[in-house]
Amino acid sequence: MKVFISSDIEGITSVVKWWGQHERNREEMSCERMTEETNAAIEGALEAGATAITVADSHGKMRNIIPEKLHPKARLVRGTSRPLSMMQGISKQFDAAFLIGYHAMAGTPCAALAHTYTGSVHHLWVNGIELGEGGFNARVAGQFRVPVILFAGDDAACAQAKVQIPGVDTVAVKQSIGYLAAENDHPFLAQERIKRAAKKALESLNTKKPVIVRGKPRVRIEFKHVMQADCACTAPTLKRLDGYTVEFAAKDMVEAMGTMRAAMSLAGTAKW
Ligand SMILES: [Zn+2]
Repeated sequence: MKVFISSDIEGITSVVKWWGQHERNREEMSCERMTEETNAAIEGALEAGATAITVADSHGKMRNIIPEKLHPKARLVRGTSRPLSMMQGISKQFDAAFLIGYHAMAGTPCAALAHTYTGSVHHLWVNGIELGEGGFNARVAGQFRVPVILFAGDDAACAQAKVQIPGVDTVAVKQSIGYLAAENDHPFLAQERIKRAAKKALESLNTKKPVIVRGKPRVRIEFKHVMQADCACTAPTLKRLDGYTVEFAAKDMVEAMGTMRAAMSLAGTAKW
């Protein structure tokens, strides 16, 4: 049984603020906790009978997990740029996927560090359904017929995961108070809860289903600034819907991920 794990950092317990350039200690502690929560999920999966595990480091430059401290049974996908971004490494060979350390989508009130992929996105939809990173990534996994069966993050992210990834098990390792505040599980408790939940989710794998997008995905992105939409629209396949919003059709979720990443990179060049 093969398990794919995508690990982000904003939904890890006690991470309530991004670090600055001169805050190496805070960055290192967050990376350490991200590694440990990922290890907890791996241990739970192994206890349930997993035989192979691939972890995709999925935050920022995607070099956060400490390789020496990662469980030795796991292979690590590390670094950028990668076509499938947070889901790089997924394939039809996997039986299940976990999303660990995830956060709520942009604009969610009372949700620590809520955003959608980059700082430029206000809202994101696929075929009219508003999604955050977890919901979008679950649909990429769905194209490979892999169900996302476990989601860990803050309480707001878990509530959204329940809606966007039907049937997923969740572990809320912190209760968000605001954008930069949360009441957190102790790291050891968060790890214990994730381990137990990972084992339980895999043991009930036969009740879980992948999230499959029927037909061609239509992706709509509302940017935070008109200038970001201007820059995104230099890609000819994007259609402008209004000042802030662009839309495109893709042949499947892999292509949707690629075009979305390109649109967001272009938007990231906007200056005003
Ligand atoms: Zn992140």
